[in-house]
Amino acid sequence: MSMQGKVTSALFKRAKAVIPYGVNSNFRYWGDDDTLVIERGEGAYIWDADGKRYIDYRLGFGPIILGHAYPAVVKKVQDAIQGGTVFAWTTPYEIELCERITKMCNVDKVRLTNTGTEATMHALRIARAYTGRERFIKFEGQYHGMADYFMFSTASTSPGSLGYRRSPINVQSTSGIPKGISQYITNLPFNDFERLEETIEAKWGDIAAIFIEPILGNAAGILPVPGFLEKIRELCDKYGIVMVFDEVKTGFRLAKGGAQEYFNIQADLVTYAKALGNGFPIAAIAGKEDVMMTVQPGQTAHGGTYTGNVTGTAAAIATLDILDSEPILETIHKRGKILMSGIGEILTEADIPHSVTGAPSMFGIILGSDEEPHDFRDYFKGDGDLYERLAMQLIQRGVQPDGDAREPWFLCYSLSEADVDETLNVFNDSVKAVKK
Ligand code: PMP
Repeated sequence: MSMQGKVTSALFKRAKAVIPYGVNSNFRYWGDDDTLVIERGEGAYIWDADGKRYIDYRLGFGPIILGHAYPAVVKKVQDAIQGGTVFAWTTPYEIELCERITKMCNVDKVRLTNTGTEATMHALRIARAYTGRERFIKFEGQYHGMADYFMFSTASTSPGSLGYRRSPINVQSTSGIPKGISQYITNLPFNDFERLEETIEAKWGDIAAIFIEPILGNAAGILPVPGFLEKIRELCDKYGIVMVFDEVKTGFRLAKGGAQEYFNIQADLVTYAKALGNGFPIAAIAGKEDVMMTVQPGQTAHGGTYTGNVTGTAAAIATLDILDSEPILETIHKRGKILMSGIGEILTEADIPHSVTGAPSMFGIILGSDEEPHDFRDYFKGDGDLYERLAMQLIQRGVQPDGDAREPWFLCYSLSEADVDETLNVFNDSVKAVKK
């Protein structure tokens, strides 16, 4: 059965005529019959072009932390842009926003960008310039945006291709990357202390940075095991490597101060995007004074026409103001815990082996295995097809997680207790339908 109603289907045909595959990001293409066209969103809900309402757990891949079209954010942006949007000078909005970020995230300095990809790309350049080294370490199943350097062994990689875990293979996630790029990247299994120490001890003189998604936000929210982030911190300190937390998904979501606060670890550089602007394009690179000051004009490049633009900064100021002054994340956490345990109970009742991973504001569900996953290789012990069938049942009943178990369920503040109850009822019905 197609997910598209009549109007959606007609619109998607028009989309395909002028946009390759009908989407402006490949992650949004679910096939010709199941790709939706969304007309609007409000609070925790979105409506497709046929007027069908969904409780939204994709939230645009995570940015919506308050709710869609959150009135205070919309108003702040509307007011701000009356006075223009870009001036190629610093604005008071940028100053206020960066002051707020330094306070909330316990960082010394901030530079703004528009997307997560730009933030991680610049963070890599800064780390290289700061250390004078060229290689970096990332972890399998971690996604750091679309720049060539990061498109190896991402969450899109298939299990069989990663190689033996003692000598992981850099698996290129896309065509169109020059062959030579791979030599600068070392992919390691997450949570593997031995591989990490061994690699750093052998190669530290070449390693500029370690990029870390503190929670595997693109692989079902797999958590760091106790001590792993601390071990990275210790090794980075010992060998002068820049520790980069990629908090594009976790920032302003796990805690006001993101994963740094949640796990009580300070990285050297941190990248933020998504929840920072509640759906407006704004991102940031932040971190310690001496590392951030590497962007010396004329020496190390960082910039962009739209970096720090009024639209994004105004949205982010309004979002952070609300996050800072109201019990937003506490409420989301409470609702998320109810959902996680409710989902667990339904699956146990239905005799489906499972593990519910991650944090209450962004959790993953792995079906078909009840082993707690510790790295991306473990993720594949689950049954992704079964999850996809369940997701399709949920979506048909008006609850919309991603169809891919790697993408977490995201929660926003507008999600009410009644929405959580409705979700659990729908989840129960969907599990029954899948079992049939
Ligand atoms: N880093 C992480 C951890 C991400 O999840 C993403 C996007 N999902 C990015 C970077 C790239 O961000 P953007 O899509 O805004 O370029």
